[in-house]
Amino acid sequence: MLFINLLWCYLQEAPAVIESYYNKRIVGCPGGEGEDEHDVVWFWLKKDEPHECPVCSQYFVLKVIGDGGDPDGHDDDDEHHH
Ligand SMILES: [Zn+2]
Repeated sequence: MLFINLLWCYLQEAPAVIESYYNKRIVGCPGGEGEDEHDVVWFWLKKDEPHECPVCSQYFVLKVIGDGGDPDGHDDDDEHHH
């Protein structure tokens, strides 16, 4: 049954691709469906740094759309100090 274990491992390690306009974003992992479901775990996912959910071992990778950049540098809606 070794090949089934290998197949299972392969499926488990298929990364979830998260799209983002910036170089990092907060991602919540709710696990899978049914028995694989777990309380949502939040973490920062950064460009070129795959993250493994500590609960369900799901891998996440960040796919940056466009130019990327730091989300902190774009969030200036509340700052009008001129
Ligand atoms: Zn998870």
